[in-house]
Amino acid sequence: MNVLVTGGAGYIGSHACKALSAAGYTPVTYDNLATGWQDAVKFGPFEKGDLTDRDRLDQIFAAYRPAAVMHFAALSQVGESMRDPGLYWHNNVAGSLCLLQAAVQAGCLDFVFSSTCATYGDHDNVVLDETTPQHPINAYGASKRAIEDMLRDFGAAYGLNSVTFRYFNVAGADPEAEVGEFHRPETHLIPLMLDAVRGKRDALTIFGTDYDTADGTCVRDYVHVMDLVEAHLLGLAWLEEGRGSRVFNLGTGAGFSVREVMDQGAAVTGCEVPFVEGPRRPGDCTRLVSGSSRAESELGWRPRRSNLAEMIADAWRWHQAGHYEK
Ligand code: UDP
Repeated sequence: MNVLVTGGAGYIGSHACKALSAAGYTPVTYDNLATGWQDAVKFGPFEKGDLTDRDRLDQIFAAYRPAAVMHFAALSQVGESMRDPGLYWHNNVAGSLCLLQAAVQAGCLDFVFSSTCATYGDHDNVVLDETTPQHPINAYGASKRAIEDMLRDFGAAYGLNSVTFRYFNVAGADPEAEVGEFHRPETHLIPLMLDAVRGKRDALTIFGTDYDTADGTCVRDYVHVMDLVEAHLLGLAWLEEGRGSRVFNLGTGAGFSVREVMDQGAAVTGCEVPFVEGPRRPGDCTRLVSGSSRAESELGWRPRRSNLAEMIADAWRWHQAGHYEK
């Protein structure tokens, strides 16, 4: 059974392709390689193309007749989205609209969507569950919320069934290091920290030390990419069983500050993390921690690798194993 995986050459998409293939599906990667890597496409066919290219999408749906879509392709950097919001509204929102219209026209009505906890915005000391009002404070979160709205409307009008996952902070890598996280430029905390430890880049800058948290740095809920993609397979099964549209947070409920991540990084690598303290990064929320166990209770999701030490250890193994080449 073919599953169209947009963004299958990217970090999370490539791990999803591995999991899909292991479960007996054929993942068809559709990716424009703007931020993905062709070397990461190892588990099924690769079709280069852009989300906004409707003709190309129609061709792909006709050629592969996918049973479902997993939609990962997106720009996902908070800072960039604040500097260049038009990029996010064009690529993420207009691109997803084009993809949804192509899927509906092709009669492919099962859709698994990567959303984000950034759609919630800053809710001080409020537990974030799927019913928390969504007030994003950056253009990235706003673009993902807009796509969630689109999915709801397409569900009502055209019978599209969607499972939406609101990711918290995805980390770690395939423990077999066949695929892993590699962004150019890199903006995420754990890979930047590991590069700083290896001397591949300058000291890590801590973005803000005056937040209202125990140690003054931002708090995030980290989830292992292997656990995350496991949830996607459960989401696909949910759709196959005709259980309808549903939104799930994917986080563990445990929050770690930037300094706690650095301490764990030092413990895993055996080296202190070189760092400097810098100003806040525009668009960053103080604290994003999931307060929901809906994915566990309804989907039967059991995160198995999402402890900080294991996530950093798997990322460290991947970082040492090497990177993709363009
Ligand atoms: N962060 C940091 N220095 C960096 C990169 C990130 O202090 O060089 C912080 C960032 O402010 C946030 C956390 O690390 O609080 C996670 O950031 P990341 O970009 O990895 O993910 P995001 O939460 O933006 O999705």
